[in-house]
Amino acid sequence: MAIDFGQMPGEAAEPLVTPALTREDEAEYSLRPRYLNEYIGQDKAKGNLEVFIEAARLRSEPLDHVLLYGPPGLGKTTLAGIIANEMGVNLRVTSGPAIDKPGDLAALLTNLSENDILFVDEIHRMNRAVEEILYPAMEDYAIDIIIGKGPSANSIRLDLPKFTLIGATTRAGSLSAPLRDRFGVNLRLELYTPEQLACIVKRSAGILGVPIEETGAMEIARRSRGTPRIANRMLRRVRDFAQVRAGGVITREVADSALTALEVDHMGLDNIDRRMLKAIIDFYNGGPVGLDTLAATINEDTVTLEDMYEPYLLQQGFLTRTPRGRCVTPYAYEHLHMTYPGQQQTLF
Ligand code: ADP
Repeated sequence: MAIDFGQMPGEAAEPLVTPALTREDEAEYSLRPRYLNEYIGQDKAKGNLEVFIEAARLRSEPLDHVLLYGPPGLGKTTLAGIIANEMGVNLRVTSGPAIDKPGDLAALLTNLSENDILFVDEIHRMNRAVEEILYPAMEDYAIDIIIGKGPSANSIRLDLPKFTLIGATTRAGSLSAPLRDRFGVNLRLELYTPEQLACIVKRSAGILGVPIEETGAMEIARRSRGTPRIANRMLRRVRDFAQVRAGGVITREVADSALTALEVDHMGLDNIDRRMLKAIIDFYNGGPVGLDTLAATINEDTVTLEDMYEPYLLQQGFLTRTPRGRCVTPYAYEHLHMTYPGQQQTLF
């Protein structure tokens, strides 16, 4: 039996399915796993890391520089924190766009202690002048500083403590080759399976003290587009519905009704996903259409569509990417209850 919640007051103050960090998520620090054995899924990345961490610990050396890449909300920042905890060292956190000038990065680097980890989120957005400081820092643990101007300018080399750089990016392809080559460990994070997400939801519900049934956890998991950040956000919203309207326990019916009221369909697609697919069908006969054109058509930002919406639509087979642009699949027509025009018949 489905429960009809109708419209809830004050709902969806922030978009529910965006994997980007919203204000609300900042309260989720308590949900972050702190050690590798609490980190669910990503077995390949975790297995590799275990070996590298153990080897570095045995040699009492800092871990090699690590590049983490994958769509937002999959656990890159969490993993950086876990690496620091497992190695028993300090973690300093910054992001590519936050470092304005080479001097800012130099200040950060010279303030590190031996074996510290510097985590740079969105490292692909670091500007070129800043990036060049990183090359000798990563390779030789040193930076070159120019003192003075013109003919009297002098370059001095400053030694740094041995440190580990962990870079995170949603687009490994945007990283310059010299920077990419300086990372010894490259780990790609994948979208999570519904079973893994259900484990994450149950763990988070335990921490938040919310009673949840197995089928309730699975319902949230199936609709959270492979992304733990979205799963945790949905859990908090569904908890509100459960507490206000359904006696506090998250059952499958409660999760289903709450998420339907929040306009997330049974595959986890929201309005923007549906508008994106529908625009390709209505205006471009199913595609191909370039992403910039599509973004302009539905009045959204190209980067948002590419980083946050497209990966899940591609993974689920709603969309394909061709050299000439994006195309929808017959499955997308079916999902939107639209008739697939099928192959064009040739008469000759
Ligand atoms: P990213 O840096 O890739 O954008 P985060 O590391 O901030 O993602 O992860 C988002 C949230 O998802 C975290 O606060 C954490 O609670 C949760 N999370 C991510 N990965 C996992 C995991 N493997 N197991 C449990 N929770 C996870």
